[in-house]
Amino acid sequence: MDLVLRNAIVDAAAPTAVDVGVADGRIVQLGHGLAEAAREIDVEGRLVVPGFVETHIHLDKACILHRCKPERGTLDEAIAQARDAKAKFTADDVFERGSRALEKAILQGTTRLRTHVEVDPGIGLRGFEGIKRLADAYRWAVDIEICVFPQEGLTNFAGTEDLMRAALSQGATVVGAAPYTDTNPRAQIDRVFEIAREFDVDIDMHLDLGDSPDQMDVEYVCDLTERYRYGGRVAIGHVTKLSMIPPERFEPIAKRLADAGVAVTVLPATDLYLMGRGQRHSVIRGVLPAHQLTRRGVNCSLSTNNVLNPFTPFGDCSLVRIANLYANICHVGTREEMRECLAMVTDRSAQLMRLQDYGVAVGKLGDLVVLDCTSSDQAIAELATPLYGFKRGRMTFSRAPGELHRPSKSTT
Ligand SMILES: [Zn+2]
Repeated sequence: MDLVLRNAIVDAAAPTAVDVGVADGRIVQLGHGLAEAAREIDVEGRLVVPGFVETHIHLDKACILHRCKPERGTLDEAIAQARDAKAKFTADDVFERGSRALEKAILQGTTRLRTHVEVDPGIGLRGFEGIKRLADAYRWAVDIEICVFPQEGLTNFAGTEDLMRAALSQGATVVGAAPYTDTNPRAQIDRVFEIAREFDVDIDMHLDLGDSPDQMDVEYVCDLTERYRYGGRVAIGHVTKLSMIPPERFEPIAKRLADAGVAVTVLPATDLYLMGRGQRHSVIRGVLPAHQLTRRGVNCSLSTNNVLNPFTPFGDCSLVRIANLYANICHVGTREEMRECLAMVTDRSAQLMRLQDYGVAVGKLGDLVVLDCTSSDQAIAELATPLYGFKRGRMTFSRAPGELHRPSKSTT
């Protein structure tokens, strides 16, 4: 075998340490006393996860905060400032900034990632080209899936759809949307479903991002998902409006999402930053309580979204931190709910992206991340540090646990 991790906790439900063996990029054995391997690490009872899965990040517009001047912190301002910055993007620039964000993500234990990439006549395919190069250059550490979408509107911006189609012909594997920036949101949703069906790709939309629950499109997306038998292939992100409705309205929508097979991605860092800007007190947070949806049969993920730009002036690309942030905002407190938060950046995210080879099990990819904790609830509650990462069995990063330097007895 190429790699054996000894004494690893791999299953939250069965906290007994086992050895994990990897050969030729895949997990080939789980058990006790595995034979020697080329590389062996005793992880001493620490939690091992199959890497974090980022379902929703924007690598093409990451790390542009120094080029922008957010003042109001609103969605409209963020879109306008990103649009101005985007006009000057080159493929090299996208690659360089994307690398910075991506290397942070790798060091935080992310092994799979879906990046949403903007195409329109303003940027053309320059962002897409930069991200494609990024995906090739970092394949040693992370698998990148490209979701192409119209940030500036689709039906109102001639030429955008042609560019989306071009990107889908040249390597994008998911089609996205941002209907709230379109002059005709429902028409954009219709077009995106048509494009998805034509190219036979999954859908991942920005949806219902706003400060009030008016004019929600979530049920319309559920209708189309059912009509076109696209259940399990549609995700919607943000859905902040769904956090602003009373239980009697929330319950039927949760059921619609579960029945239709529409997954939901919550993006707490961005939603916290952009929502409630019109209020002076008792400010709404706009973060959808995803764990209340998973309880009702909806698959959900938590993700980073934006990194150091006018949409989110923060970002270390740590999904443990995002899950912990979510847990704080959404009143998560029990061990079971903490475990669910970890699942929403690992197993549930993998399910959203329909990753067949993800998991710590024989036959799955040898993607493994060792966290400095012993249980999944502790990972979230205590923001466990990733100590080692492996992609297809090869080490991609490492860091030493923090160490106290106590004074010697004579000086105490
Ligand atoms: Zn987004």
